Amino acid sequence: MFCIHKFRWPNTKWQAYDQAVTGQDEEIQVPVLIVGGSLVGLSTALLLARHGVESFVVERHSGTAIHPRAGHFNLRTLEILRSAGLEETVRRKSREQYPPDGGISNVESLAGREIATYFTDLNAGVAEFSPTIRLFINQDALEPILRDRAESLGARTRYRTECTSLEQDGAGVTAVLTDVVTGARSRVRARYAVAADGNRSPVRNRLGIQMRGHGVLSNSITIYFRAERDLTPLLAGRNQGVHYVTNPVLRGFFRLDRSGNGGFLVVNLVGDTARPEIVAAYPEAPWANVADAITKDRALELLRAAIGVPGMPLVIEDIATWQAVADVADRYSEGRVFLAGDAVNGTAGPGLLATYDAERRPVGEFTVEQSYARYVTRVAPYLGTADAQPVVDDLYLELGYRYDSPAIIAEPGDDRPPHQHPRDCTGQPGSRAPHLFLDREGARLSTLDLFGGNFVLLSGARGAAWCDLGRDAARSLAVGLDAYQVADAGFCAAYGISPDGAVLVRPDGFVAWRAADATGATAEVITGVLSRVLCRANA
Ligand SMILES: Cc1cc2nc3c(=O)[nH]c(=O)nc-3n(C[C@H](O)[C@H](O)[C@H](O)COP(=O)(O)OP(=O)(O)OC[C@H]3O[C@@H](n4cnc5c(N)ncnc54)[C@H](O)[C@@H]3O)c2cc1C
Repeated sequence: MFCIHKFRWPNTKWQAYDQAVTGQDEEIQVPVLIVGGSLVGLSTALLLARHGVESFVVERHSGTAIHPRAGHFNLRTLEILRSAGLEETVRRKSREQYPPDGGISNVESLAGREIATYFTDLNAGVAEFSPTIRLFINQDALEPILRDRAESLGARTRYRTECTSLEQDGAGVTAVLTDVVTGARSRVRARYAVAADGNRSPVRNRLGIQMRGHGVLSNSITIYFRAERDLTPLLAGRNQGVHYVTNPVLRGFFRLDRSGNGGFLVVNLVGDTARPEIVAAYPEAPWANVADAITKDRALELLRAAIGVPGMPLVIEDIATWQAVADVADRYSEGRVFLAGDAVNGTAGPGLLATYDAERRPVGEFTVEQSYARYVTRVAPYLGTADAQPVVDDLYLELGYRYDSPAIIAEPGDDRPPHQHPRDCTGQPGSRAPHLFLDREGARLSTLDLFGGNFVLLSGARGAAWCDLGRDAARSLAVGLDAYQVADAGFCAAYGISPDGAVLVRPDGFVAWRAADATGATAEVITGVLSRVLCRANA
């Protein structure tokens, strides 16, 4: 996901850190400060730690998430968790919480008619493209797994601590941290900061970065509840997963936990949005604001209407209010501050950091537009689809986006769209390196299992020259590179090369460059390639 290269800041003073957390007014020095210790902040700390980069996560809450919130995790996320060695742990936890391979459907109510089926099996057809699966796991179960791994790899986390000021200069970032219990302050000096501080991002606001898009779609609520009896018989054999609910009372979705005796209901809209006279009468859509003055009694009414069984004994455990927003930040970085996690490096040129915005923002925009398209087709058709993109297969979003930046050496005449089905991603520079099972001395592994650490040069069965040249060039440039000749059937076709060709895969699992055959197999070429994709000034 991120483009990360090895970096160690020689002057790291963890002693100063330790003094600071014990209350003395010392400056904390660390290569990367991460503001926000939720999914993105903890993932960033974990991925940086895997690359030997120290980070310091500050989170104003007292621990990891207390609500389930995110539950559906896509293929690319699972591929990244696999590369971090967490796939098995996460899959085990997921199985405890949800039946595997759940479906996504739209119903009048749990007990009512089915209106549409979006997926009967979340993972139908994915094995062709990925060594892993999509799954459901609640955010409050995933975050501790990320935190444990990040901390075990050396990342520091500090809770009940708010970043109350962040300034930057040419050499680094200076932040003030405030202990939310005692009010004690400490100062952090970091080379870079990652703002993983959520959709309201105080850091983004401080940097003056604007959000653009469709704006606020709904003021929603999540109702956490327990039922006296198992609700799964109401599903009448439908695969348990996500159930959108569309009826005259509300629009939203359910996620039941594995027991069937509880879970949560999200309510996005209330009122009959299918009636044009209601929509016309409320141009500001006040009926959309279910969060306004929500009470437990009202939540119970909505829950009953969504379950479709009058009088069922139910206990409301909690109600959370939140906004659905379909916006993207204007810029993903400002100087040394990166929104949502990114690259830190010692072997690359500073230009590499600028590729973060160039590569990730178009992906963010596409993802938001596709989420919006799903929202207006599944939940809020009254908004109309005139300004919505056609909905594409989820695989385009998960595995089919392509990067275009100075860290990618595009092929002449390559005018393919920036988003493709993964079956059309056959090793073109900028695309995710395809998955293919290989046999290594009797052990089966995915091509993806080779990525995540160093650069990787893969050649066809007759590409030994590329491998030798690659190793030499990497040595002379002091870049970590692993080179493999691959003889497995199907490899060359999957990566779009001949047996004499080679492909260079970045540590983030994206193809940086490709040679279809042996043409140009010289030390100058491969040295130039590595220098260019690292954005070294003399490339
Ligand atoms: C009901 C619901 C269902 C959802 N379902 C899904 C789903 O199925 N799949 C999915 O991918 N997503 C889902 N989401 C969205 C998902 O929860 C968010 O995208 C995700 O939590 C974003 O993670 P984050 O780390 O960027 O930000 P957040 O989770 O918002 O975390 C930001 C953190 O930063 C901290 N913070 C903010 N400012 C400071 C500061 N100055 N100093 C210190 N700490 C600070 C906050 O306390 C917070 O913990 C769902 C959300 C909701 C509400």
